[in-house]
Amino acid sequence: MDRVYNFSAGPAQLPLSVLEKAQKEFLSFEQSGMSVMELSHRSKLFETILEQTEQLLREVMEIPDNYKVLFVQGGASLQFSMVPLNLLVKGGHAYYVHTGSWSKKALNEAKKVGKTQVLASSEDQDFTYIPTIDVSILDENTKYVHITTNNTIEGTKFTDIPNTGEVPLVADMSSNILSEQIDVSKFGIIYAGAQKNLGIAGLTIVIIREDLIGHAPSDLPTMLNYSTYANNRSLYNTPPTFAIYMTKLVLEWLKEQGGVKQIEQQNREKASLLYNYIDESHMFFSKVKREDRSLMNIPFLTKSDELNEIFIKEAANVGLVTLKGHRSVGGMRASLYNAMPIEGVKALVQFMQEFENKNG
Ligand SMILES: *Cc1c(COP(=O)(O)O)cnc(C)c1O
Repeated sequence: MDRVYNFSAGPAQLPLSVLEKAQKEFLSFEQSGMSVMELSHRSKLFETILEQTEQLLREVMEIPDNYKVLFVQGGASLQFSMVPLNLLVKGGHAYYVHTGSWSKKALNEAKKVGKTQVLASSEDQDFTYIPTIDVSILDENTKYVHITTNNTIEGTKFTDIPNTGEVPLVADMSSNILSEQIDVSKFGIIYAGAQKNLGIAGLTIVIIREDLIGHAPSDLPTMLNYSTYANNRSLYNTPPTFAIYMTKLVLEWLKEQGGVKQIEQQNREKASLLYNYIDESHMFFSKVKREDRSLMNIPFLTKSDELNEIFIKEAANVGLVTLKGHRSVGGMRASLYNAMPIEGVKALVQFMQEFENKNG
């Protein structure tokens, strides 16, 4: 069976060697005679998987000791609610930077919980840039500032992380966690669904500074309270065991690649290949402001919807799949997560060149 280059925004392509390792261990994990899926979450074998996954993440992201790593379900979308439910308490307010569809959803959930304001927005230009942020308006009642570090649908990313001083900065990093080096200590909370750069759907990683845990009202349902996860090493109830195991394999693979520093270099190289071609092409173009371009999700289009459609169809015929842009943006989108090899990007660029020569 031939594998394709899958440019999906998520769930996304995984490294082949990770899938092969999972396949090899599928029926019997470490001579247990059981699949990881059949292991008790209280077993020594699974506890080791959980500990190793956390250790690996701490190592590759250089997470400081005063941060907890939580393994949660419900996707990044549940974090849109959990963040305000745990932090937006006692008459405070929260500021949201509005940079696209996902920040809108985050903001809408927070509105249900407490007082929110938009700190900056790029809606005036269809979210094709990252707005400047004025931190001088933050005050002592600001419970947090929320940003989306990479805008999966619109194809922008924060290059400079805003300095919010004493106010905790909360980041939805679902689509660019582990893609480039970041300084975790700049953030109060980082959260990310695993199905883009960390593994498979079903697991959400929350990295939270310890002093932000324990402020939730006592009537908050147990499973929505960060304390529940922090106090029980994410084993209060059954965690998504297989998804955690897959993340462990992805992190081991990442380490073998040389860690985040090395991956970042590869990601820059991959993204430049595609952006350079788009910039010189007479057929394909990008609407995103140059300085704010994402390394992970690259939307592009031609001037005609019909041509876009033909492109997507013909690309799929040669094994370059899931290139359709999000319905809110149209055109095409190539997601170049860590697991996308440079060969996949080269194949895409070559196909684009051939397509342009034929139809231009
Ligand atoms: C994919 C994505 C989400 C949604 O994640 P779920 O795990 O499906 O809830 C949220 N934010 C960003 C930035 C994303 O890319």
